[in-house]
Amino acid sequence: MRLDNAIIAGVFGLFFGSFLNVVDLRFGHWKSIALSRSACPKCHHVLAWYDLVPLFSFIFLRGKCRYCHHSISWQYPLIELSSGVIVFSLWWSINPGDWLGIIKAVLAILLGEVMLLMSLQDWKEMLVHDVLFASALIIGLLIWLVNGWSLITVLLSLAVTALPLAVLALISKERWMGWGDVLIALAVGLQLVYPLGFIWFYLAFFTGAGIGVILILLGLKRGKDPVPFIPILLLSYLITSVWGQAILNRYLYISGFR
Ligand SMILES: [Zn+2]
Repeated sequence: MRLDNAIIAGVFGLFFGSFLNVVDLRFGHWKSIALSRSACPKCHHVLAWYDLVPLFSFIFLRGKCRYCHHSISWQYPLIELSSGVIVFSLWWSINPGDWLGIIKAVLAILLGEVMLLMSLQDWKEMLVHDVLFASALIIGLLIWLVNGWSLITVLLSLAVTALPLAVLALISKERWMGWGDVLIALAVGLQLVYPLGFIWFYLAFFTGAGIGVILILLGLKRGKDPVPFIPILLLSYLITSVWGQAILNRYLYISGFR
């Protein structure tokens, strides 16, 4: 049952991913998302429902527009798949059993989806809209409210998530870390409360440093070039949600605490 539910949720996630692609396209244009129908960005032909089935349309049309054969960006299937993975893994890890559980799962998923949209903007433009940071913060506060964490739990959580990132942003004068990353850490710290936030921070930090070093060694980046960090924060969020407790148990076992 648990796997079945997570798979059904994951399929919804694929469709939500194609919605995110539309949101991303229209960001800043202030065009209504609900009223205007999706069209090919090249030939502007209005797309039919069968052109919009997540992943499958891209595979069957071999990544080309049905009408003008213009290549469709890899962004579309990638975002759809990522969204499916986000919904599947978070639904699986929370495994809601009642309405409150469902609300908690939906909020955790929304935070992941906002981070996915941020990752996309971070990757393409190294610039994320303020609206998204505000959304992440509001979702974080709702998560606090719904889960009813005590103030001491929240303070402990933020001390191992947002605080270290804020210190890094301060001492590097925003070269390693931006204040946007700190805001994301604040929201994540309200979902992955202490001690899980601790795992999230270390996974993200070492993955980020590792990828940075590899890119520099391969000559793809120079030491001063910024590396988009939000996709790594998102990846760590998913891994910690699913395996965080297991990693923690293992760590405590090795350290002789258990
Ligand atoms: Zn076209």
